[in-house]
Amino acid sequence: MSSRTVAVERLSKAFPHGDRNLVALQEVTLDLQPGEFVCIVGASGSGKSTLLNVLAGLETASSGRFEVQGRVALMFQEAALFPWLTASQNVELALKLRGVNKRSERRQLAHDLLERVHLHGFERRRPHELSGGMKQRVALARALAQDADVLLMDEPFGSVDAITRDLLHEELLRLWRASSLTILFVTHNAREAVRLGDRVLVFTSRPGRVAQEFEIDLPRPRSLDSPELAVVAGRITERLKQEMRPDGH
Ligand code: ADP
Ligand code: MG
Repeated sequence: MSSRTVAVERLSKAFPHGDRNLVALQEVTLDLQPGEFVCIVGASGSGKSTLLNVLAGLETASSGRFEVQGRVALMFQEAALFPWLTASQNVELALKLRGVNKRSERRQLAHDLLERVHLHGFERRRPHELSGGMKQRVALARALAQDADVLLMDEPFGSVDAITRDLLHEELLRLWRASSLTILFVTHNAREAVRLGDRVLVFTSRPGRVAQEFEIDLPRPRSLDSPELAVVAGRITERLKQEMRPDGH
């Protein structure tokens, strides 16, 4: 287990659904090496969020096992900031929960974290005064405040415009390179997955399973517009489509 930060073995999850069960995940097996950036792509309803929620301890698995080494932080599609707190206070709260007891220290750390996500000068804004992309930056700073070893990201940039998303990709990759973070990033966008990941796992549609794994050996930095990236993303999209056809062909 030592060379794996996240190990998932035959993990299944069923939700009660009327008098039957809805199987969201069926025997998912995957591993993440320390410092790896792995993306999961799958259609909506393929159990991606369920998997992250189980790994984050928000849901329990029905069967199978998993192990996560170190501290875990989860980031959602919606920033889920407290609207009555400023950007800084949202980050400070995460620091408080982490056990940073001195108020002045929390404030300084929040300042540094917001600077790392390029929000210097916006510390005292409340969420409604920030754009969608800025809110996700605060959410990222808050995730970093948890001093996590493993960052689980659930379609975090799904609701921001394309240019903002491209900038957020760059910043996420910069933060990842400068740290020892292991990242599991969920998206339904094959290009985004290829832009970011060392590996891309394609999920089957309900129940979710790993259908295929793609090793992404394109050199970094990668451009969303590069033809090389489009070729790999095209292969992944083909595989996804195959999964989504009722007959599987
Ligand atoms: P994804 O994130 O890939 O879109 P989800 O993990 O959200 O997929 O959902 C997978 C399946 O599990 C869906 O059919 C969804 O309706 C169902 N599901 C998810 N969470 C619950 C829940 N708390 N109760 C019942 N069914 C759920
Ligand atoms: Mg989801």
